[in-house]
Amino acid sequence: MERIKIVLKPGKEQSLMRYHPWVFSGAIRNIYGNPEEGDLVNVYSNEDSFLGSGHYQPGSIAVRILVFHNEDPGSDFLLSGIERAVSYRRSLGLFNNPELNVFRLVNAEGDNLPALIIDWYNGVAVMQMHSLGMFRIRKTIADILIRVLGSELKAIYDKSENTIPYMSGVRAENEYLFGSDTGNLTVTEYGNKFRIDLVSGQKTGFFIDQRENRRLLQDYTTGKRVLNMFGYTGGFSVYAMKNASVVHTVDSSASATALADENVVINYPDDSRHSSFTTDAFSYLDGIKGKYDLIILDPPAFAKHNNVLANALQGYKRLNRKAIGQIAPGGIIFTFSCSQVVTRENFRKSVFAAAANTGRKVRILHQMSQPPDHPVNIYHPEGEYLKGLVLQVE
Ligand code: SAH
Repeated sequence: MERIKIVLKPGKEQSLMRYHPWVFSGAIRNIYGNPEEGDLVNVYSNEDSFLGSGHYQPGSIAVRILVFHNEDPGSDFLLSGIERAVSYRRSLGLFNNPELNVFRLVNAEGDNLPALIIDWYNGVAVMQMHSLGMFRIRKTIADILIRVLGSELKAIYDKSENTIPYMSGVRAENEYLFGSDTGNLTVTEYGNKFRIDLVSGQKTGFFIDQRENRRLLQDYTTGKRVLNMFGYTGGFSVYAMKNASVVHTVDSSASATALADENVVINYPDDSRHSSFTTDAFSYLDGIKGKYDLIILDPPAFAKHNNVLANALQGYKRLNRKAIGQIAPGGIIFTFSCSQVVTRENFRKSVFAAAANTGRKVRILHQMSQPPDHPVNIYHPEGEYLKGLVLQVE
């Protein structure tokens, strides 16, 4: 079938020539035909030179480029992309590691497979497609995973119900594409056990991207009174339990605090140092003066779009001001933003403004990011979404 041709406005080919994989709708001069969402289209410059092929989508990001120049975006492209992603994780030592069996297998643009996320949960691959183009070829992707991973793979769960664009009108249902529910799914991360609720958990079930930051946290917890805000499944809390004197987990969702309690108990049965609180973070932080030596602030993305950026920055400032203002003298704060539209610089400025507001002396001890199984494509800086600071407050 002849692919539909899309021609860009003069000058708009520049970002594609530098391998940025998104074509924004405003860059398009002409669409020759009526592509349906998810169709493969060919993109040309205003001067009619061929730039690449990708999946079409009505909306702000109109095309996600799969291949530049004259490569073929067929199943060979998918096979080699997935093979590369898997062998890279092998080279990182992530497979066959008794201490660690939860990591990201495919990180979308970061692995040159736009809109495709695959996470690995101890043999269960959980896929989330963020475009209809990838969703349509999910069975091919599943077949490739089976071929590449062989007996290491126990099941494939497609969890795209909430991630494929709403505009598409397609109703995806979460389902097993291979294997079936393996019952109680438990994973190991640096020796810590976590129970995973694939079906109703957020994202693919666990915030895998905080792994290295949780490990760093452990070094700071000895004898400390630790407060884990926005704790979700208690990832930071479990690591803190190794050496802390008290660990409190706060989340507004009762199912989250229940899972956090469960995860602490799996690792530290009958240990009274941990408690959790189901309540709003902002109000909890109003009454904590001097009560904690270490606070983790890992809120959900405050800004999903650029048009709410200013509000989001205010949100980070308010949150950090409460923590910096009230932490015990000498206290440590692990503070994060996972909003894609908030840059590292903007986040730092918000935290700076929060600190200045309290008048306390604050040092930056570490600048944190996402781990190497969440790689950033150098041509797609938007992929660097997780940023964090470790602060020490005098
Ligand atoms: N730190 C977690 C991930 C946090 S995800 C980890 O490492 O796994 C964000 C969490 O914030 C969610 O569990 C959500 O329920 C919670 N949340 C959102 N708004 C909140 C609020 N106003 N107060 C408290 N918790 C909130």
